[in-house]
Amino acid sequence: MHNYPVQRSVMVACHCCRVEQEFVFKSRSDHVICKGCIRQQGSTASTAARSTPVTQ
Ligand SMILES: [Zn+2]
Repeated sequence: MHNYPVQRSVMVACHCCRVEQEFVFKSRSDHVICKGCIRQQGSTASTAARSTPVTQ
């Protein structure tokens, strides 16, 4: 939970990397984590999918 305005852009420091950047929250329960950090957290699954051998 956070107390930032929702449905509009606000400058907020990411709770993960602490870099201040533009966020647009959809609800008060959204995580205050930037897209870069979300990508890092989900990289395990995407890397596993990418490492699947491609037979040609
Ligand atoms: Zn971040």
